[in-house]
Amino acid sequence: MNTQVGIVGGGPAGLMLSHLLHLKGIDSVVLESRTREEVEGTIRAGVLEQNTVDLMVDTGLGDRVKREGLTHHGIELRFGGRGHRIDFDELTNGRAVTVYPQHEVLKDLIARRLEDDGDIRFGVSDVQVHGHTSDKPKITYLDADGNEQTLTCALVAGCDGSRTSTRGLIPETTVRTDHFRQYPFAWFGILAEAPPSSEELIYANHPRGFALISTRTPEVQRHYLQVDPDDSVDNWSDDRIWSELHARVDGEGAEIKDGKIFQKSILQFRSFVCEPMQHGNLFLAGDAAHTVPPTGAKGMNLAIADVYFLSKAMSEYFATRSRAGLEGYTDSVLPRVWRTQHFSWWMSSMLHRLPGDTGFGHKRQVAELDMVTRSVAGRTLIAENYVGTPLG
Ligand SMILES: Cc1cc2nc3c(=O)[nH]c(=O)nc-3n(C[C@H](O)[C@H](O)[C@H](O)COP(=O)(O)OP(=O)(O)OC[C@H]3O[C@@H](n4cnc5c(N)ncnc54)[C@H](O)[C@@H]3O)c2cc1C
Repeated sequence: MNTQVGIVGGGPAGLMLSHLLHLKGIDSVVLESRTREEVEGTIRAGVLEQNTVDLMVDTGLGDRVKREGLTHHGIELRFGGRGHRIDFDELTNGRAVTVYPQHEVLKDLIARRLEDDGDIRFGVSDVQVHGHTSDKPKITYLDADGNEQTLTCALVAGCDGSRTSTRGLIPETTVRTDHFRQYPFAWFGILAEAPPSSEELIYANHPRGFALISTRTPEVQRHYLQVDPDDSVDNWSDDRIWSELHARVDGEGAEIKDGKIFQKSILQFRSFVCEPMQHGNLFLAGDAAHTVPPTGAKGMNLAIADVYFLSKAMSEYFATRSRAGLEGYTDSVLPRVWRTQHFSWWMSSMLHRLPGDTGFGHKRQVAELDMVTRSVAGRTLIAENYVGTPLG
């Protein structure tokens, strides 16, 4: 089988790339190791930047996100027992974020690709890319029935997430440099059937540790508590979770509404960037090339931004045979990747209790939050980065 672009991984990066290429008349095949049901059922990100929503709407994916997404015009930073609103409308000329779960974005993308006769191979295994530095790379894999298959293509996109195998094709040290940082805290996340505790997301700095109050739908809430990286879900009864959330968030203008917890998980905090994000005819996008701690709600948005630029470079190549855009891909996306890394690190370090802190660290954080929220420039910096700087 032959195609123009072979895409490894059918997450937000791989599926959006396939969709954007199709709109430019370029064929692709998406190889995805999980089943369609698994892809559409995995609950992960939930906050879409303005750019992501605009791209969905502009490319014909906007019906459900416009109808069912919850537009948020601000967030609350909570410290010293009080909330301090960051007003996106006022600070970014009407830009906003939309709460719409990642798996709903994936459902929209899959439905649209299939409507457009797109080729997504679910349930494949043993995916291997060969000859990515030649002009005829090949991808071999076992299809869902276990039969050996070969895909020949001009370009390969590695969109296979943080457990990527395609990244390993960029030779380490001679070509590739990995930048990695592990944080000394993690998030304990719950999904609960409960009414919303707040109209907007609350990011709470508290001496007991950070808490995030967020939402998925009017009926389902997503809350997080800072915990130690080696903590376990078994240590947290439902009562302990709710009482810790109340202790960290309740106060002037806020009160958590309890409900029935139906999912618990622990999310580790890591920052990672690999440079360059390409080698020969292989191009990485999304978590395959970088991960960010979740405090800035950026992972999926960054994956979508990558493929927006990658699709432009690939379509220029197929239209003109000029490799200029392809060769410049890493340079076109890395500044945004590092700005996003910085924003996610900054929000994380300002809001989380630092291990071993004797009290100085917390007082300093509160002073920083106070300084940032008192200043129009400080609030604007948070608002602009939270809603996402324009892609153009
Ligand atoms: C609990 C949680 C909460 C998060 N919250 C947010 C948030 O609020 N906002 C935000 O923007 N981001 C958030 N993120 C991050 C976000 O989910 C990721 O950044 C995003 O999924 C990255 O998309 P991707 O397409 O690059 O990778 P993935 O979504 O990981 O997709 C990669 C795909 O490749 C497939 N695959 C892997 N290996 C192979 C292989 N060898 N062959 C074929 N297929 C393969 C995988 O099955 C997967 O479907 C969160 C993540 C988690 C885990």
